[in-house]
Amino acid sequence: MTMRNLEWADEEVEQLRQAGTYMELRVLESPQEPRAVVNGKRVINLCSNNYLGLTTHPRMKQAARQANERYGVGTGSVRSIAGTFTLHRDLEEHLARFKHTEAALVFQSGFTCNSGIIPVLAGDGDVIITDELNHASIIDGIRLSKAVRVIFPHRDMDALESALKEAHSARRRLVVTDGVFSMDGDVAPLPEIVDLAERYGAMVYVDDAHASGVFGRNGRGTINHFGLDGRVHVQVGTLSKAIGVLGGYVASTEGLRDLLINRGRPFIFSTSHPPAVTAACIAAIEVLESEPELVERLWDNTRFFKREIQNLGFDTGTSESPITPIIVGEPHTAMELSRILFREGVFALGIVYPTVPRDKSRVRTIVTATHTREDLEEAIAAFRTAGRELGLIADSVAV
Ligand SMILES: *Cc1c(COP(=O)(O)O)cnc(C)c1O
Repeated sequence: MTMRNLEWADEEVEQLRQAGTYMELRVLESPQEPRAVVNGKRVINLCSNNYLGLTTHPRMKQAARQANERYGVGTGSVRSIAGTFTLHRDLEEHLARFKHTEAALVFQSGFTCNSGIIPVLAGDGDVIITDELNHASIIDGIRLSKAVRVIFPHRDMDALESALKEAHSARRRLVVTDGVFSMDGDVAPLPEIVDLAERYGAMVYVDDAHASGVFGRNGRGTINHFGLDGRVHVQVGTLSKAIGVLGGYVASTEGLRDLLINRGRPFIFSTSHPPAVTAACIAAIEVLESEPELVERLWDNTRFFKREIQNLGFDTGTSESPITPIIVGEPHTAMELSRILFREGVFALGIVYPTVPRDKSRVRTIVTATHTREDLEEAIAAFRTAGRELGLIADSVAV
């Protein structure tokens, strides 16, 4: 049905369809697991951010059930009024210990962390220096700030240094980067970034959404992975990816935490996490500490899958993480590859312009700790079939 004065929405959707960039939602009828029922079909799932398989971890489900029974299903308030329960405080204590920082503060999501924290860190008279491939929520956070924005080419440390020099007279300088970049799976050169920031008196802000639970000891993230504990001012993480639940957090000093409690707009003005969510997140940190084999299995599977995909002759770009892009060129090729994979029983989506450059269209995959070797072998066979059908790889490739 169209509604008067809202017809323009239908017209815009039509334009998206004609441009071939309209996105349909896929619907899961099963839990988020290595094999899932997607749009009615049982497939091997290479699309989720559920790196460690925690979305269905028994200990976390039990923690959520118990919190539900004990505290009810909602908090009925924002954190800053009556919505801070002992559970929220416990989670923040767990996170600060886990991240080796003085304090941590939980937000509703990783997205609201970035959009809420960046405008507090830098404003009028300050400069924010940001990698061109940083996440959309960082871009929004910077837009909400009154600081000057300087974008540097992806991982280009000479450009970062020039920007830092140029910003010497600003009140404050803030360097912002993803730890792991979500479309390419490559890692920020944090040792160099931290050295430069220290030399030029800048704060460093690392968004470790795709690295928490994946890099570092027990999944502490890229800062711990590079031995930079104590030298990064602001670490943001998400509870929605490897942690398997929902939420975002910042790990930093007590001073910054206290400031964000007073100034972080999503924190102040949006209702806090339900008890079940918070309790499941606490259980997840305990799982990370007590089941390091999950992270090991994730990396075993990552190495196996990447090697087999590369052996088939596919281009996996610069990935150093469990995110493996299969770069195929033109947008329609990526969409076709995704379609054939689905026919062959594999769920992996095409990613095209404007998310990535037009000639770097790709199918993006993420393996998890809970995929079995059989799951991955079946997926690789599907890639072989689809790659040959589209002429992307040679028929005679030895496997
Ligand atoms: C996914 C992601 C976010 C958003 O996290 P949510 O908890 O899903 O809101 C933020 N930053 C980066 C780099 C991400 O990859």
